Amino acid sequence: MSKGLPKRSEDYSLWYNELVKRADLAENSAVRGCMVIKPYGYSIWEKMQAELDRMFKMTGHTNAYFPLFIPKSFLSKEASHVEGFAKECAVVTHYRLKGDESGKGVVVDPEAKLEEELIVRPTSETVIWSTYRNWIQSYRDLPLLVNQWANVVRWEMRTRLFLRTAEFLWQEGHTAHETREQAVEETKQMLGVYADFVEQFMALPVVRGKKTESEKFAGAEDTYCIEAMMQDGKALQAGTSHFLGQNFAKAFDVKFATRSGGLEYVWGTSWGVSTRLMGALIMAHSDDQGLVLPPRLAPIQVVIIPIFKSQEELEAISVKANEIAKGLRSKGISVKFDDRDTYKPGWKFAEYELKGVPLRIGIGPRDLQHNTLELARRDTLSKESVNLGEVDIAHKVASLLDEIQQSIYDKAMAFQNEKTTSVDRWDEFVQVLEEKGGFVSAHWDGTPETEEKIKELTKATIRCIPLEQKNESGLCIYSQKPSQGRVLFAKSY
Ligand code: AMP
Repeated sequence: MSKGLPKRSEDYSLWYNELVKRADLAENSAVRGCMVIKPYGYSIWEKMQAELDRMFKMTGHTNAYFPLFIPKSFLSKEASHVEGFAKECAVVTHYRLKGDESGKGVVVDPEAKLEEELIVRPTSETVIWSTYRNWIQSYRDLPLLVNQWANVVRWEMRTRLFLRTAEFLWQEGHTAHETREQAVEETKQMLGVYADFVEQFMALPVVRGKKTESEKFAGAEDTYCIEAMMQDGKALQAGTSHFLGQNFAKAFDVKFATRSGGLEYVWGTSWGVSTRLMGALIMAHSDDQGLVLPPRLAPIQVVIIPIFKSQEELEAISVKANEIAKGLRSKGISVKFDDRDTYKPGWKFAEYELKGVPLRIGIGPRDLQHNTLELARRDTLSKESVNLGEVDIAHKVASLLDEIQQSIYDKAMAFQNEKTTSVDRWDEFVQVLEEKGGFVSAHWDGTPETEEKIKELTKATIRCIPLEQKNESGLCIYSQKPSQGRVLFAKSY
């Protein structure tokens, strides 16, 4: 392997970019802002997808698929929606190319101009609600609980692998309900699903909250979000769940016959998480040696590395290694036995450290003699020798993986607590943001003007109005006007 990673403390941003590339997660593509997700990165995303998909189905949702293209006229049907997305839309204007004059290249055929331009979906509310109009007639058709796994395109100007790309993979849930209450309940339920997933699988604690008016989704009445803290003290929005009110039902004329014989507009929600979660996972836990993956999302949970000089030694170790691997697999643990003789053990150690494999088992000739092996934890980089005569290795590994999962979460939780500061004075507010970073909990007068002014002065935005906090009135950190409660400020990705 080439030289080590840049250090987080020296250049966090470079460390992240290099880590994503060297750990074989993703790379930039020929298309600006679009990434290639490599097999190792994609296998982590698949594990995320599988669990989220299971959780969506457990809560009554089913998957469907809607088109990639949205007629331009659809987008303008909901005024604030189009206003929010217009600036980042990719537009298809033609459907054919033809040979150019030189005979060597191709140009757009002006005769093949589309009558109505198509937008590459930045999100699918409009095309989905235009479809729901045909699907929903009566209260008997409700609730409609649909999810779609798809790619979307938002023409982002400043992109970064996983965190913000022009094309990204995501899921988008789109549900329709009889009453406001049911839709609000769904919005909150899905926020809970996201929070549970991120905390229990990604081992990353989140703050659940509501966005301010100026930060909410274009077309929503309310946007709920989960916010996570990265190691450089910047916040990352990890998922959003929107209460759409009747906005899209009105825009697309989706009405239903009510139980009492009336006709009413349908209530809607939408919610999404994207490949940005990969960025969160990488940024939150990894260190200067490479990735640190929580066992529940690691494609390889245990790697066994033989330490040998001769072919005979390798063969003897392989018998033992395969036996151990079999025992682990029977417990549902994913194991790789790396018996390649084209790389030295030291190289392999560094490689699997870089790739974040939670546990490494090393077996050498002396281990065979003594019936032992070496167990090394990726998260703490600690090692122990295990006597196979005394310990049931499959049981030991299974409980260690649980311990690692918990300990990664605890570390991130302690970090988040350490990086959350409650502040009541403006000078202190500015200083904390400058020197310490993290979440700053402060009073705000509730106006978009103050929010904007604070952003201008400090680059910090209101990440959310936390859902769980004690009732406390006070004075706005900036304007000194009355405030109904604290909000969380942070610089963010
Ligand atoms: P939204 O539809 O804007 O609420 O976004 C849904 C989810 O996609 C949120 O969790 C965002 O964090 C994520 N997201 C938004 N824009 C991007 C992007 N350019 N790249 C990756 N993820 C994104």
